[in-house]
Amino acid sequence: MAGFSFEVEARDGRARAGRLVTPHGEVATPAFMPVGTSGAVKAVLHRDLREIGARILLANAYHLMLRPGDAVVAALGGLHAFSGWDGPFLTDSGGYQVFSLAALRKLDEEGVRFQSHLDGSSHLLSPERSMEVQQHLGADIVMAFDECPPGDAPRAVVAEATSRTARWARRSREAHRRPDQWLFGIVQGGVHLDLRETSARDLVEIGFPGYALGGLSVGEPKPGRDRVLEHLDTILPAEKPRYLMGVGTPEDLIDGVARGIDMFDCVLPTRNARNGQLFTSRGRLSIRNARHREDPRPPDPSCACLTCRTASRAYLRHLHQANEMTAATLMTIHNLSFYLDTMEAMRQSIRLCRFEEWRGTTLRRLAAAEQDGS
Ligand SMILES: [Zn+2]
Repeated sequence: MAGFSFEVEARDGRARAGRLVTPHGEVATPAFMPVGTSGAVKAVLHRDLREIGARILLANAYHLMLRPGDAVVAALGGLHAFSGWDGPFLTDSGGYQVFSLAALRKLDEEGVRFQSHLDGSSHLLSPERSMEVQQHLGADIVMAFDECPPGDAPRAVVAEATSRTARWARRSREAHRRPDQWLFGIVQGGVHLDLRETSARDLVEIGFPGYALGGLSVGEPKPGRDRVLEHLDTILPAEKPRYLMGVGTPEDLIDGVARGIDMFDCVLPTRNARNGQLFTSRGRLSIRNARHREDPRPPDPSCACLTCRTASRAYLRHLHQANEMTAATLMTIHNLSFYLDTMEAMRQSIRLCRFEEWRGTTLRRLAAAEQDGS
């Protein structure tokens, strides 16, 4: 398809470093996508995001279809023109949100009828409607509409959701028309390797330019997730991008890359920043902790972001305690910088065939230090 390509440029074990090309620019992989639910990453400007190295943003079809409405965004030129972010966008299909946020859901083969969490109005999300919404929004990468059961769902429920997800993927594929978008399929199946394998094979048979792994950030045990990733690495086409949805901590990203994942998104760095939780190269730091009250050091002495160059822990703690909006901005800039710098370090280590060495050192450093005590 014109304007799109993906190439794995280096491998180290299962880890891959590559390049994703979209009509709105290139993304080096493995990549982390900051979450801009309603078309903006909370508390920061697009300018800040560019400066810290964000290349691709995620936006939520579910939220934008309810407010301001996908037709409104389309009339204003689509998500790029509407938001002013001229780099690549990815939208999710609304599947995950409709199962986690909406009230009074009624699920059948056609789709999901639900009431908006905003005003109680009635809506239908189906593969066809999700494709219409995402084509209105105009992101570079769009997702098939899937059914995402809870992490503790019984096997029979997961099995039914998995086969429905395959039927919905086919309908999504048939309803998708825009040649300037890449449509990814979503593999479901919980922690059941046989269901995951069936799901992946069904999607590969339909044929997508990329594959996402859903239902792996819904409270399942981590060893179960690792086994699923290792198994799918042997089934998904090696030359296509793989996206692990909604995951996770810095440790989760490293473990995902070690198992062949190329793309991630997660609200953790942005949400935690607003709650005063900072991710640093020496573990996590809670800015509310009283020990930071007179601490002149930056959040992370190894970080070169705007926040670490200009703000002390004492100042950030003060702003947070005073409910100053700037606290969220500064801490979001740091947390996203830390995530994006970690991705860049991973890419370099894969290119140098030193990923396992880097991974061991980094995981030990993240686990060893309780930063609050340092
Ligand atoms: Zn920083």
